[in-house]
Amino acid sequence: MTLAMAPGFRSPRLLTFDPRISDADNPLGAIENACIAFERGRISFVGNQLDHPGSQLFPLVPLLTPGLIDAHTHACWVGSRHDEYAIRMAGGDYREIAARGGGIVASSRALAAATEDEIERTLLHRLRRMLSLGVTTCEVKSGYGLLPELELKQLRAIAKVATNRDAPSIVPTFLALHSVPLEHQLDRDGYISAVRDNTLPRAVALAQFVDAYVDANAFTVDEARGIASNARALGLGVRLHVGQFADVGGAELAAELGALSADHLEHVSARGIDALAAAGTAACLLPVASFTLGQNPPPIAALREAGVALVVASDANPGTAPTESLPLALALAVRLYGLTPEEALIGATRNAARCLGLHDRGMLQIGARADVVAWDVAHEYALVQPWGTSKARTVIVGGARVA
Ligand SMILES: [Zn+2]
Repeated sequence: MTLAMAPGFRSPRLLTFDPRISDADNPLGAIENACIAFERGRISFVGNQLDHPGSQLFPLVPLLTPGLIDAHTHACWVGSRHDEYAIRMAGGDYREIAARGGGIVASSRALAAATEDEIERTLLHRLRRMLSLGVTTCEVKSGYGLLPELELKQLRAIAKVATNRDAPSIVPTFLALHSVPLEHQLDRDGYISAVRDNTLPRAVALAQFVDAYVDANAFTVDEARGIASNARALGLGVRLHVGQFADVGGAELAAELGALSADHLEHVSARGIDALAAAGTAACLLPVASFTLGQNPPPIAALREAGVALVVASDANPGTAPTESLPLALALAVRLYGLTPEEALIGATRNAARCLGLHDRGMLQIGARADVVAWDVAHEYALVQPWGTSKARTVIVGGARVA
């Protein structure tokens, strides 16, 4: 249930993430002794307490930031794949997991067996838990239905939850090419044609982006190009999974298609990085997945040097990123990938918003959506360390207190 409207807060430290008031000494645009006020779901004031006549009436909290934005999740799944983890830890790879009926196929089977109502309820509960961690906007992909009717069932459930005001805002993505379903193993081209001609035209009304898994043992650049360019012509934005296991040219394809993000990038060439930089395509980093799989990090220094915008997301999924926690991803981005705490936090706020095509959030500035988190820690470095518990005291979405 939505609680009463929160008119504002004051805090010894507020991070705007606004580049207009950021510099080398103040990279996150911090304001000391700050105040923020909301009106009709938007930020009506952000600045020094002394400049707001009513500020003394607002609750005092240790730290204020924009709501976190999780730009890459597979949060719409049902069932459990806990058994796979033991296989993986015992040295089994995805082939062994698949041979025992696990992996994406297991999630697909669970989705097929669930009612739309069950899928909706599971997603809502999951998103509510994410909200309690400070996440106010969440990208959610389909991709476990695989077959046309089941993909649409999953997208309808996501769309239904998106109308719930007690959940984070949802950005729905049609993950068109995730895996070839068992029924089509012998007719790969037929499956891809069915996705293009049957699922895609009907998915357009339910999604804002299209996505495809471009990698070794997944889909080729040509296969992904076919679907993504059709989707783009129908009005969807593009984001792609690229280079998680091998560089097959996915980054170059993302740049060619004007994708807003290329995600994973554990394997990417210098040419691919240059292409991303030239196209303004963000690198969406998913450190929980590389932690689970024991992989080396993406070439962060090269991405940084090329000026590619860095985004950090949870990749929440039941197999390779079994977490719902964007703060955990931020902690691992710093610990495993060598991002500075500032880079990690920008990657889950301002840069995450931009890579989802959202220009009304990710920063605390007048007129932006009032998506705000009041934290129980005094400094932002404590958001990426220590780990494991929620540090959000109050979460505001669109000006309303929801957690
Ligand atoms: Zn993913």
